[in-house]
Order: sequence, then structure tokens, then C-alpha cells
Amino acid sequence: MHTSIQVGKLLGIPIKLHFTFLIILFLFIFAFANGSATDYRIPMGLGGIEMDPVLRYSLATLAAVLFFFTLLLHEMAHSYVAMKFGTKIQSITLFFFGGLAMMEEIPKSPEKEWRIAIAGPLMSFAIGTLFYLVYIVLNRLNLGFYRPIGILVLVIGSFNIVLAIFNLIPAFPMDGGRVLRAVLAKRMSFLKATKKAVLIGKIFAGAMVIAGLFFDPFTFILTGERGMNLWLPLLALFLYMAATEEERATITFATLEGIRVKNVMRTERASVSEDMSIMELMRKMLEEKTAEYAVVNESGDLKGFVTLDAVKKIPAEQRHFFNVSNAMSPFDSFGDVILGEEQAAEALKRMIRDRRDILAVREEVSGNFVGVITRRDLALYIEMLRGNI
Ligand SMILES: [Zn+2]
Repeated sequence: MHTSIQVGKLLGIPIKLHFTFLIILFLFIFAFANGSATDYRIPMGLGGIEMDPVLRYSLATLAAVLFFFTLLLHEMAHSYVAMKFGTKIQSITLFFFGGLAMMEEIPKSPEKEWRIAIAGPLMSFAIGTLFYLVYIVLNRLNLGFYRPIGILVLVIGSFNIVLAIFNLIPAFPMDGGRVLRAVLAKRMSFLKATKKAVLIGKIFAGAMVIAGLFFDPFTFILTGERGMNLWLPLLALFLYMAATEEERATITFATLEGIRVKNVMRTERASVSEDMSIMELMRKMLEEKTAEYAVVNESGDLKGFVTLDAVKKIPAEQRHFFNVSNAMSPFDSFGDVILGEEQAAEALKRMIRDRRDILAVREEVSGNFVGVITRRDLALYIEMLRGNI
């Protein structure tokens, strides 16, 4: 699904905007152009100030651009520290509730995790402080000081301070929750620490639902009234789902610890010949109850992979004339092979990342193709392991 567009690259990291973020940008422009400058303890926007509409919306657009860049800097701070620790960043995506730096893998070392997690809020604090200082200087100078600029600086500064504080709430998987997990992981296993952090995260999510319905901290700061914030329950739901998802992934990878590809690979029912007919292949799949094969030629060289999903896409009337080579995905010697000695978790990671169901397994010394590892077999293996613990 193409729900994000790439807008550029920073330090080699693709920067993407999710379509929901574009909605937020427009909302931000509108809110800044019309939010009251005088009704609250802190000005919310340029509403109530007499000015040319073109100038008003130009300033609001500038504010939205600053809003975008400061969010991006928050994510870049996480990414920069992660990269210093040798973790690759696949992309940064800005969406509805903020940003997400997609790391190739989340570091299991608590020392790394808390530093990566804290970098984002620290950056937001720094930006917020800088904008406040600029605001104070502008106020002091008073040299025909133009009020809308002051409001713009103040709003972006406040936004960054709120972002920093909010992210430090120890609700996993927000930044504060990651710091909490890292602190816990110093005293217990990574898996146990994750489970605890997730539980605390879910309790916070529940509290956010209740808080949003009866009390809004932002309204309280601005007006001194209790207010109501329906964003909080929505954010809580999102956090709850993200926490559940990360817990599941952590359990899966923790279960696979110490297991190697060769323990899970399949050496029988591993390959079919490229000139086998599709009808024959389908019979073989049914007979062997196997949905993925490597494809080899006469001399046993790897040519590709064929899966039940690919076969199903061939119309029934063509299955008589087509053979395996028409249905296979061609072999790419770089991405399609894994060594038997490698960790099974690595195989799973690659299958998830590249959205694929099968990898060929090679023996390190001889370089020979010795079997295949599939997502289905891995899932079953994980289930059996878990039953054993
Ligand atoms: Zn963050």
C-alpha cells in the first residue's frame, strides 16, 4: 500500500510523509491562522489580530513547515544515536501522531536503547528552549517588534516542550516506555522487561482514555478549566495496539534465541525441477503438503522459488501448458540465500523485511545448497518451542 510519499533524504535516510500527516499539516495551518491570540494564557495562533489574510496564511504555512522540521529533528536525533551504535535506519515516516524511525532492528542492549530513546525528547527540549530564548530576545528588543512572529516562535517552542514531556511518559512504546524497558532490562531478561513495560504501557493507555474523557491537561494549562480531549483515547488505542504488536514480536524473537537456520531448515521436499509442469507441481504440493519449494535446473543450480500463492495466480486453463519456470520468482544470489550457521531469527527478520516466505540455505564451507527455510516452518517451530518452555 502506498500510503506514504518520500519527500527527501537526510543522512542517507529516506524521509516519508504518511497521508494522515498531510491532513495534520493542513489542520495545523488552519488552527494557527485562526487560533485565538488573546483568549488563553498562551496565544494559540493569529486569530483576533488584524492582518492581511495572505500574510496570515503565509505565516501559518511557515509555522507548519517549522512544525514539520522540528518533528523531523526529533526523529533524526533518535536515528543519529542509533546509527552511531551501528543500527541501520530504513526510513523515517511522519504520520498522524508524530514520527517513527524504522530501525532495521531494535537494539537489545539496554545501554543503547535508553540512549536512542532519550535522544528524541532531548532534541525537542533543546528546540523548545531555543525558541523560548528567541521569543524573550524578540520581546526585549522591542524594536517595532512584530507580534505575529513572536506568537509563531512561542507556539512552536511550546509545541516542542509538550512533545518532549509527552514522549517521556513511561507508556511503551513511546520514548519514555523504551527508557523504562531499558532500565528494567538491566535487572531482568529482555523478554521479562518487555512484558513489564508493555503492561505498564497498557495501564497508561487505559488512564489516557479516562483522562481524555474527564480532564484535558492542555485545556487546563490554557484556561484553568477541566476540559475534555478526545485525541487522548484515540492515541491510547494506537499505543495499546503498538504495545501488543511489539510484545508479540519480542516473544517470537526471544523464543528463537540460540536457534540456528540449520535447526529449522527443511532438507527433504526442498526443491522441484524448473521444467516440471504446473499440474504436476500442484499434485506434488498436495501429496507432500508443502507450499513452497526452491526451483533447480538439471545440474542442480538454484533458479528461483515457487509458492502455492504464485501457482494460484495462474488461470486454471493455463496450468496444463505452463511449467514451474513460468510461476517462479527468479533467484537473486544476494538476497535469497542464508547460511545454515546463521541465527533463525535473522532468517525471520529478512523474511518479514522483504515480505517473502522462503529462503535457500547454503552450507558455509562447501557453498552447496542444502535446503530451504520457510516462514510457515518457522511459525510452527516457534509454536512448538513455546509449548516446550
Ligand atoms: Zn521519539
